[in-house]
Amino acid sequence: MKIQLSFESKHSSTELHIFSCFNKTKEEKSAKKSKEKDSKAEKVLSHAHWPAELTEAFTHAVASKHYKGDAGENIALTLVNGAAALIVGLGDKNKFTKEVLRRQIANTYKAISNKFEDATIHLDGFLVKGHAEDSIAAMVESLYMTSYTFDRHLSTKKKSKLAQIIIATGEKKSAAKKLETALHHAETIGQCIKVARDFVNEAPNILNSENYAKEIEKDAKNLKHVKLKILGKAEMKKERMGMFLSVNAGSAFEPRLVHLTYTPAKATAKTKHIALVGKGLTFDTGGYSLKPGPSMMNMKFDMAGSATMYAAFRAAVLMQLPVKISCYLGITDNAVSSLATMPDSIVTARNGKTVEILNTDAEGRLVLGDVVNYACDAKPDALIDAATLTGAILVALGSEVCGLFSNNQKLADSLLASAKNADEYMWQLPIIDEHKNDMKAIVADLKNIGGSGNGGSAKGAAFIENFIEPGIAWAHLDIAGVGDSQGHLPYCPAKGASGIVIRTLVDYLKNV
Ligand SMILES: [Zn+2]
Repeated sequence: MKIQLSFESKHSSTELHIFSCFNKTKEEKSAKKSKEKDSKAEKVLSHAHWPAELTEAFTHAVASKHYKGDAGENIALTLVNGAAALIVGLGDKNKFTKEVLRRQIANTYKAISNKFEDATIHLDGFLVKGHAEDSIAAMVESLYMTSYTFDRHLSTKKKSKLAQIIIATGEKKSAAKKLETALHHAETIGQCIKVARDFVNEAPNILNSENYAKEIEKDAKNLKHVKLKILGKAEMKKERMGMFLSVNAGSAFEPRLVHLTYTPAKATAKTKHIALVGKGLTFDTGGYSLKPGPSMMNMKFDMAGSATMYAAFRAAVLMQLPVKISCYLGITDNAVSSLATMPDSIVTARNGKTVEILNTDAEGRLVLGDVVNYACDAKPDALIDAATLTGAILVALGSEVCGLFSNNQKLADSLLASAKNADEYMWQLPIIDEHKNDMKAIVADLKNIGGSGNGGSAKGAAFIENFIEPGIAWAHLDIAGVGDSQGHLPYCPAKGASGIVIRTLVDYLKNV
């Protein structure tokens, strides 16, 4: 699907024209003059930007009597010249936000994509607080996210008919450059979300650790100002990554630590350096602490943290943001074999701390602990990790909210602000001394699960903090809920990878 801007809205000859309709509530006083009781609120339609032929067709349509212009209330018309018009209800203009726009564009795309080959969206009626750049960005992100399908393994593919969308604007041509940039950035984010979703949705027998690293290497070759280094088993042994290697012990495939570095063209000593770390468990059986059958299904999703971080990194590089970014992806599966790590094993982490592994299914923190410690070597200004770390985060926050933990409130606040900008749900949870103490073992420095069953997400975060070097600002994002099956968002597939949190991270990297 091609999306392009047009500054000549009247001359577009697409099959379908999409307009919006808002409503505002007008207070009507009854003739009886008795107060309050007889006054009623009536919804009045607001569509100042419509051309005359649309107003005329709408007035003649029978449904117009019942049409209230509420969000999601759409009406299809045929104009006198035979062109099709769709009026998208957006509800109260005062409550119109980027997220309302994203959701209504998603619903509109679903309604038209199999009926029309091309369509023009008349932007002037879809402006959020009069802001063209933000509105184009939200619209384009939504179109990319909604049109995504994972059909590479289907013998019959469902092809969408819609091949072109024109966003027609009444803005002056002098604004073209900034509007084109907004469109281009949103397309980049949309494409990178697709890359992440494709990785997460791919089957684990196809995307094993070695192939995953190769795929990233192949993709990253096309990125400017990026260096790539891949550590295998031998290199990780040299790095003394005893925790990471213990997770890989039962695997038929080698572990991989993919290390990407982007240095912007005009980097100076003042250029900020951000480290992104992602958990990449291509499949998690639980190891000897084997998951029961129903919980093991979909564990290909356990590498969503790494796909999320790679996608955010990739988008930042394609936009050539003026920030240095190091991206570290810790990749392996967690399998069962005669060589797999047994519960009660004691291993030594890269930073020398000893860890008693009481549950081999709490493996993400073992991989992340060694990788975040490795990432600390470069002394980044901030280090952020993303991981499908705990099922407990769904108990705490539901499946719709990303859990945030941090040792630095300034960093946490920046991430929360970016989540708000991106309209993604994120909530900060604490790491308290009691959580840290609960991760201490009797026979080793630490153990990989807490003593009590509660607070699992916070204790997972408390464990990882042991491997962050002093003075490094660190934040941990638990995406076990938001990374998958976000069907409540019309621009996400009901089943499968969501790509949620990528937009928050790109916003953070833009504003750092
Ligand atoms: Zn696990």
